[in-house]
Amino acid sequence: QPERSTVVVGVESGAHPVMIGPGTFTLIAGPCAVESLEQTLEAAEMAKAAGATVLRGGAFKPRTSPQAFQGLGKTGLHILAEVREVTGLPVVTEVIDAADVGLVSSFADMLQVGARNMQNTALLQAVGAAGKPVLLKRGIQATVEEWLMAAEYVAQRGNLDIVLCERGIRTFETSTQTTLDIAAVPVVQRQSHLPVIVDPSHSAGRRELVLPLSRAAIAVGADGILVDVHPDPESALCDGPQALAGADVRELASTMRKLIPAT
Ligand code: PEP
Repeated sequence: QPERSTVVVGVESGAHPVMIGPGTFTLIAGPCAVESLEQTLEAAEMAKAAGATVLRGGAFKPRTSPQAFQGLGKTGLHILAEVREVTGLPVVTEVIDAADVGLVSSFADMLQVGARNMQNTALLQAVGAAGKPVLLKRGIQATVEEWLMAAEYVAQRGNLDIVLCERGIRTFETSTQTTLDIAAVPVVQRQSHLPVIVDPSHSAGRRELVLPLSRAAIAVGADGILVDVHPDPESALCDGPQALAGADVRELASTMRKLIPAT
């Protein structure tokens, strides 16, 4: 088993830097999409109260339907930077186009490559050259080997600050959005030194499964989880059914405190 590495997020932006890797369990939380300053700030405060140390939020949203909300783009990046200023949480946000990597890296502490773009080699190379840590999600039809090769594209550009994120794969099962491949966590840890986290929100697509899947992530030895939270999931412009609010966030926080006393 390779010696595991740690990725530090938020060193340059004035946020509280966060270490992702062995010996810690990182909660990354925030809204699926940045909708407004108020909504993002409220979500960030909920996330922080639950013990989150990194804020997630999509400004560029890769949606299945072209009719769905595509994100606020650059305005969303400004909002994320403002919320970082207020909360001290470093920001991870997705970049979907190689041409936007410079723009997104001038705001973000960590660049997310989403499931749909895991094999977009031009994007992988561009984020590899951007000098910011990268959160690389697994494609829904990608094998572990293909996922690790995608990470190699980033690493080849000299960037070893990569965190892998298991977010479910497409199977014949229809009761969840995708099937969380929890075995991928220890499988990856045997083959790679990179930290690996789990996204129970996008994998299940159902908020009632986020807590049990988070427990599974902790049990299997993941380095953290990435969770959607929203102050009012009913009104969410993106993926409301999977977002945690109020009591659900508090329950996640107390479960984490019980299972990982250091958090
Ligand atoms: C996301 O995290 O906002 C997202 C779109 O996830 P995925 O790429 O895993 O579908």
